[in-house]
Amino acid sequence: MADAILTINAGSSSIKFALYELKETLVRTAVGLAENIGQAPHLLIKTGKDVALEKRWPDHAPLNHEDLLEEVLNWVETHLGDDQLVAAGHRIVHGGKTFLGPTLLTPAHLVDLARLNQLAPLHEPHNTAAVQALFKLRPELPQVGCFDTSFHHTMPELATRLALPRKYYDEGVRRYGFHGLSYEYITSRLPEVAPHLSKSRIIVAHLGNGASMCAIKDGKSVDSTMGFTALDGLVMGTRCGAIGAGVLIYLMQSDGMNADDLTDLLYKKSGLLGVSGISSDVRTLLASPKPEAKEALDLFAFQAARQAAGLIASLGGLDGMIFTAGIGEHSPEIRAAICERLAWAGIQLSSEANAANEPAISTCESKVEVHVIPTDEELMIATHTKHLINK
Ligand code: ADP
Repeated sequence: MADAILTINAGSSSIKFALYELKETLVRTAVGLAENIGQAPHLLIKTGKDVALEKRWPDHAPLNHEDLLEEVLNWVETHLGDDQLVAAGHRIVHGGKTFLGPTLLTPAHLVDLARLNQLAPLHEPHNTAAVQALFKLRPELPQVGCFDTSFHHTMPELATRLALPRKYYDEGVRRYGFHGLSYEYITSRLPEVAPHLSKSRIIVAHLGNGASMCAIKDGKSVDSTMGFTALDGLVMGTRCGAIGAGVLIYLMQSDGMNADDLTDLLYKKSGLLGVSGISSDVRTLLASPKPEAKEALDLFAFQAARQAAGLIASLGGLDGMIFTAGIGEHSPEIRAAICERLAWAGIQLSSEANAANEPAISTCESKVEVHVIPTDEELMIATHTKHLINK
């Protein structure tokens, strides 16, 4: 055993976490999930394949995120014995104009973080609440915030602008881009997995419940399908993606919707779930015989290819495409549907390699190399945290 770092990804009803021991490299020795918080909480911690701790509480047990974090910290400290938990690293979705890179947090930062809540209502308040809870539970424990927007601060100013009056840009109403920890991890893998792509023009497609694509040139983000918030861009599990602003005006005028109604509709009831009326889960939709399921998946691929075409313009051409996250790593059907629509850009998939979920899935003749690389956002968080506490 050795001293360790805890990574935390707190959501509305769940907390995902991982323990990394500081050996010669960072070694993940435990992973865990606290879910169903607010209903019937369930906590599961695994060390490798072994279940190290499992606890269930009854319906409506009065436990909140802070109580479950306390359970996690108690387990971690017992598990480490004489070794120390030296820091916690948090995934935080929005860094706004304030947080340009991973940051060693102080309680004073909570005010800056709270200001960003509105910009990512599905994630940010829960990310921030976990930081606040840890300051209360373990005031001496260093905490590092790792922001999904940071990777995109290399985007040229043009790619960050919205065509609104200038004062809004100055206030921070601009395009940011998200999933930065995932893109940073994928970029860090390229020298080993596909060396010639690390100095070229690539699109990384992070396709999970939240989905986006990033245009990366010479290892740096130059454009992203997500913008001011993580609502923009691709069709997602329950989020609408790019939508004309006029639709919002229509919904406000004709349906009398206010900001809360729109937040609920656009973040939680739209996307694959809204279009199919069945599920937000790609596996369920692929297995469904209903035409609405196919329509939702077709729209997902259509929008993805259309937006990839925009990123190709930002890159001035395309040398490589990388798929990652739940759908990107596991769904040959969706990868094929997107790539077929991008054949004009020189993408040719090997149907055998794609069906077998191999790491390299383009044909030898394909002008654009296509790879599948599993992402690891937690490792990025642990790496930044280690760096900031000088361990
Ligand atoms: P999150 O954004 O919540 O981290 P994930 O990256 O875990 O999401 O991706 C979740 C998505 O991945 C879901 O739509 C799920 O259906 C899809 N997915 C996971 N495994 C498969 C699979 N074997 N085939 C198709 N889709 C899959």
